Amino acid sequence: MLVFILLISLGLSGWHSLSQQESHVLKETKIRGNDLSRFTAQSVAYSVVGYDYHTIQLLLDELVKSQDINYAKVTNNKGNVMAKAGHLSTENITWTYFEEDVVFDETVIGKLSLQLDNSRIVARFVEQRNELIQREILLILLMAISIYFALSYFIIRPICITSGKLADGVSKDALQDVSLDYTKNDELGYLFSHFNAMQERLSETTNLLKSKVELANNEVQEKNERLQKQSNELKVINEKLKLLTITDPLTELFNRRHFDILLRKEISYAKRHQENVSLIIFDLDYFKKINDKYGHSVGDAALFSVAKTVQSNTRESDICCRIGGEEFAIICRETDMHEIRIIAESLRSKLEMTPIRSGQHEISITASFGMMTFSCLSILSISPDDIYHCADMAMYHSKQQGRNRISHYADITVDIKRPKAKTL
Ligand code: GH3
Ligand code: MG
Ligand code: MG
Repeated sequence: MLVFILLISLGLSGWHSLSQQESHVLKETKIRGNDLSRFTAQSVAYSVVGYDYHTIQLLLDELVKSQDINYAKVTNNKGNVMAKAGHLSTENITWTYFEEDVVFDETVIGKLSLQLDNSRIVARFVEQRNELIQREILLILLMAISIYFALSYFIIRPICITSGKLADGVSKDALQDVSLDYTKNDELGYLFSHFNAMQERLSETTNLLKSKVELANNEVQEKNERLQKQSNELKVINEKLKLLTITDPLTELFNRRHFDILLRKEISYAKRHQENVSLIIFDLDYFKKINDKYGHSVGDAALFSVAKTVQSNTRESDICCRIGGEEFAIICRETDMHEIRIIAESLRSKLEMTPIRSGQHEISITASFGMMTFSCLSILSISPDDIYHCADMAMYHSKQQGRNRISHYADITVDIKRPKAKTL
């Protein structure tokens, strides 16, 4: 912009000096013409008075030859031509026409007409103008080149180096590490020192932010780990809770409520897959007496011991439950009437053979068993309630038959009276 303004001012000053020269040429032409006219008019005054045509003619001839005069004419006060020399030109614009009164003794006695050739003056002017233009062009060129080199060295070069460093910093994502080492005490140096100060602040802020983010990340991680731990603990607690809702706390066998669900599930599975399923129910004999004789806690220990004996003497697939105070149930998958008798008899015998130890006492426990089987071959439709009821009846049949024995519902011929009706 500065260069542009400078060049325009140079051009304007050139144009101004040219126009001044032009007006100078015009002025000079005018002065010269006027002077010539005045002196010639004075020179011919005596000859006009004396009607010396010959002298006037000689003077005019001489004038035309020597003084850039194209045409000269002298007329008397009546307008008659006394002498003339050269040819009047009307074509060339470089001719200037002058007229001067011929005065003698303060009386106008004639008129002198001159046509002046100012081509030499114009030629000189053109020559000077061309010289001036050339000088101006040279000056402008020199100035432009100097300004270009000065700008390149002092402004463009540092800016290019700086923008290169900035671009490098941006591409490496390390703008905070960029340092502009331009130390000159000028506007650029001032600008770059401010940039360096700003960049230092930026770097400090970035580091601060980074450490804060790191701290926050660590906190989040710690919280996440704590949450994960709590969630795992909750899962374990939930599992325990779930187990508590389905198990009996004393014996750790499934409770009555879960037994009801499992019995329904197993029977519907057996129906669907054309399988047999059998149910054993057993009640400890004269258990009240044990409580009365040894105390309730010994009774509890006896119940726990019975549960362990049952669990360790049944198959993995058998489902053992405590369905009442001293009443237990076992659901045996894929087990028919014959197999269930064997399982029940073995369990009865095992219980009988496993006395409960309480201090110095050895308490012998027996149980009465009742069984019922859902057979896939049976054409009768039988519900879980029916199965439970039949097994319960068979168990009471064992009680009535003298206890410590097994009975399958299929073996019962007499009508059994259960003391308290129980349904699922
Ligand atoms: P039976 O041979 O006719 O079954 O006689 P029984 O004494 O076992 O029958 P009864 O139903 O009269 O008595 C059952 C007893 O079981 C009564 C009760 O005190 C006891 N009992 C029930 N639940 C528990 C328990 O959780 N802990 C203890 N220690 N005793 C229990
Ligand atoms: Mg009992
Ligand atoms: Mg009972």
